[in-house]
Formats: sequence, structure tokens, C-alpha cells
Amino acid sequence: MPQTITARRLITATDTIDYPVLTLDAEGILTSIEPGQAHSTSDALLTSTFFDIHTHGGAGHDVMEGTSEALDTVSRFVASHGVGHFLPTTVTASIDKTLTSLDGIANAIDRAATGDWSPHQALPVGIHLEGPFISHAKRGVHPPDNILPPDVALFDRFQQAARGHIRLITIAPEVPGALDLIHHCVQNDVRVSLGHTNATCEEAHAGIAAGARSATHTFNAMRPLDHREPGVLGIVLDEQDLFAELICDGVHVAPELVRLWLKAKGPRRGILVTDAMSAAGMPEGIYTLGTFEVKVANGRAFLADDLTRGKTTLAGSVLTLDRAVENLQRFTGASLEVAANLASRNPASLMGLSETIGDAAIGRPANLNIYNAEGKLQSTLLHGRPVA
Ligand SMILES: [Zn+2]
Repeated sequence: MPQTITARRLITATDTIDYPVLTLDAEGILTSIEPGQAHSTSDALLTSTFFDIHTHGGAGHDVMEGTSEALDTVSRFVASHGVGHFLPTTVTASIDKTLTSLDGIANAIDRAATGDWSPHQALPVGIHLEGPFISHAKRGVHPPDNILPPDVALFDRFQQAARGHIRLITIAPEVPGALDLIHHCVQNDVRVSLGHTNATCEEAHAGIAAGARSATHTFNAMRPLDHREPGVLGIVLDEQDLFAELICDGVHVAPELVRLWLKAKGPRRGILVTDAMSAAGMPEGIYTLGTFEVKVANGRAFLADDLTRGKTTLAGSVLTLDRAVENLQRFTGASLEVAANLASRNPASLMGLSETIGDAAIGRPANLNIYNAEGKLQSTLLHGRPVA
């Protein structure tokens, strides 16, 4: 018995359709999308579910734990915040720990791909390797002892442990060896994001020339702007084709600069991410990010070690992607159409996954976020079924 969904408006990757009538088959695949009658009673707004390409965890678990319990919990948690697909993201740790974590995350990705996955869980579709090939000067909370010079052979060991599932890597392009690694990743269909970097303008351009396509949490852990030496940040904002992540929690980046970022990157190149850690969705307290302790208070996550020395170093976020989409609209005045696509179409486009992820279209699973007329996320459907 096919199911139908009606709404006031459907926001797709390319269009908005008024009063749509969506038909689903028994597997929850969209079989038709037709414009309906203007007197339809539903005032719901539909968007595609979101795709978070930078998240470390949530609901008390970190993906670096690598266990099925951790990955199941995180994927259920993100789905409850409008996410249909995500890239579990590592943090810098010892080589052994990283290899073990990658193997565990790869198990979850393989399980999800073969259908051994709850319909209430977002699908992990690849791994974002954040570190160890980053800059000491802009390491943020990544532990200094485990930061390593870019190394093609070591990357290959990581990729082997991940059984080919590393799809995105954050690299500081100015570190010796980085350009070779960027080339190698690009040749092997791994997207490269410039991040945790102190690159000058020239070094950033070299990274892009080598094949980098995106920037990791723009503004954070990046050489700041200088009008004579624009640095990597100036290049990220200026380079038209470069994608650029943003943590839109109002803490990591001031609203004024969220507006500047959107003006610079436009509706097609900005990507909303959470950079969430295990405390996302949890009460205040002490949590872990990778292998280190983080204290969460007032909606902020700080490196616990630094706090004891009077330093406040932000350690990931407790942001959820539905909140990021809300904040973006609040900070910039952008419409839900624009904001939702920053969290769905654009990350899929960066990752070369536009054919399967980030749009509500015929032939695809009905992975939909349902907003009320006030623009509040009411529920999320995966394969047409509400996420519990
Ligand atoms: Zn991160």
C-alpha cells in the first residue's frame, strides 16, 4: 500500500515545490513527487535530511571508541537531530589507537551498507580523518605528542585499517610532505580539507593547487586574517570553488562573521557541520573527545587540562545540525531553503555523493525533515519511517 505525504512546500537541492504530494513505495522509496492543490491542509515544510561531514560523537559516546555500541548510539542520536548520513570523524591519537578506531568505524559502515542497521539510525557513509597530519601551531585540542608529519605510507596504513572508508581528510598544507599527501589522497578519491593550519596565502594556494577542495571549521584553528598576508583564512573566503565548513553555534564563530562567511561562500559552497563531541545531547559534566577529557558548561566544551591552567580552549562543540540550521537563519536572515541546503546538498556535493545523498528526489529513500510553519523541526523520516 503506497504511502503519501503532503506538505505546504518541499525544498529540494534545486527547487521548491508548493503543495507537493509525495508517494512512497513499501520500502520507503519516493516513487513520485507531484504539485498538489493550493487548498491542501498541511502547513509542513519538507527538506532532505542533513549530512554531517564532521562529527566526533554525541549522547555520551565518541566514534573513536570504535565499538558497535558507540557507533549505534551516535548514529541514533544524530538521526534524532535531522541527520540522515554522516562521516564519523577521528581526532589525533596514537597510531595504534587510530588504527583500532578506524577498524571499528569501518565495521559500522560495512554493517550499515549491507542493511544490518536500524531504520532509526543515520547511515555512516565514510570516515573523516582529522589529524594527525596537522599543524602544531594550530592544533587546538589535538594532543601534540601524536601530531605527525604528513606521510603517504602511514596514510595508506590508516586507509587499509579503514578498509578504504576514509573519504575526507583534514591536512595543514604548509607542513613538509603535505602536498605529496594531498596529491595521493586526491588520486585515491579522498577529499582533502585544509584545516588546523597556519598556512600563508601562498601555502594555502599550493594546497588548493594540489587538490584540496574544502576547509575545515573555517575561522577555527586557522591563521587569522591579515590584510597584507591574507593567510589561509583569506584564501578560504576568497576562493570561489572551495567549500568551507562552519560550526554555527554562536560560540565558535561570532554571528557577524557567520554573515561574512555566507556572503563570501554563497549558498553553494558553505557547509554546516557540528564538530560535535560525546557530550552533545548530554547534561553538563566531564566527557572525552578521542583520548582527552573535556569539561562541558554553559553550552561550551573546554579542554579540561587547559582549564586547570586558566586557559579556555574550545574542544569541539555540543551543537546538533538542526540547531546549526536554525542558528544560520537567525544570524543571517537566510531562508530555510538556503540553510537546509548548506547542511544537505553542499556536503553531498563536496563528497561527490550528490546522486544519492542530500536531496529529496524520485527513486531515493524518503529521508525527510518535517518543519512546522514556524520553521521548527518536528520530525525526521528515514525511508519514510519516523525516527524514534
Ligand atoms: Zn573536529
